[in-house]
Amino acid sequence: MLSFLVLAVMSMTFETEPRDTVLVRIHDVVPDLLTDVRYATSDNFTKRILYTSDTLYARRAMAEQLLVAQRDARSRGLQLKVYDAYRPLSIQRLMWSIIPDERYVADPAKGSRHNRGCALDLTLCDSNGVELEMGTGYDEFTERAAATYLDLPERILANRRLLEQIMNAAGFDVLPSEWWHFDLRGWENFAILNE
Ligand SMILES: [Zn+2]
Repeated sequence: MLSFLVLAVMSMTFETEPRDTVLVRIHDVVPDLLTDVRYATSDNFTKRILYTSDTLYARRAMAEQLLVAQRDARSRGLQLKVYDAYRPLSIQRLMWSIIPDERYVADPAKGSRHNRGCALDLTLCDSNGVELEMGTGYDEFTERAAATYLDLPERILANRRLLEQIMNAAGFDVLPSEWWHFDLRGWENFAILNE
């Protein structure tokens, strides 16, 4: 379903839109990227399988900046692992029906930056693919998940700071309520996409 959608979007946009508005497969741009697409499994906060495939898509502009971040992480002996990127608006509506709380799920009436293909959920791993300690798991909707939450051991705060530093340098800003969520600067220039 998702791949059909993306192919349809791509075929519509290739001829008329500038290349930055095209959705691409993230692994076409960052081939060595680790992913753990929880929404393609039932291991997520909805307890339902939301995606029919674990292929991740993004605006080309975001995928290219993710490559910058991955190279930075690699230069430090680390690597990135992505949980989610582009998310169709219909999935946003489903998530909102389960957690209608704007601290954790964007209101589909406004649309999420994920719906624009301009947001990433991700973490840092060591060279073996072991996740660095970040204090909470992905999609743990607690105050400890906030990027602004400081009552954590220094080694965890240092890991969060490093992730933010790498992503900031590549053109992303963290969402204050979620240490794992980063928006591409300029996201407002990209439209919300739906199935
Ligand atoms: Zn997110």
